[in-house]
Amino acid sequence: MKTIVEYDAKRRPCNRYPKKIISPPSPNRCCLKEMRRIGEVQVEEGGLPFFYKRCPRCGYTVREFFPKGLDGFLTLEGFGSNDVEEVLKGFGQRGLLIELAA
Ligand SMILES: [Zn+2]
Repeated sequence: MKTIVEYDAKRRPCNRYPKKIISPPSPNRCCLKEMRRIGEVQVEEGGLPFFYKRCPRCGYTVREFFPKGLDGFLTLEGFGSNDVEEVLKGFGQRGLLIELAA
């Protein structure tokens, strides 16, 4: 599993997406509300789409996976149609958009 996130308690949190993200090893209270998506949705070798989510306060970063694939995106809170289009652009499968919108 490739990840650009390095969990390190000794170094300061740092966002150098898409090359590297340095994150504290564990989440804090602030992470419950503040996690923000970073960058494009990516697909892991196994085929699961994911993106990086980072807390702008403390720098804690996780990868969020979508076990149900692209359909899972549609059910996610806060994902509007624009985001889905963005996602599909990332996949290079624009044809899927029509299928999802139907
Ligand atoms: Zn936080």
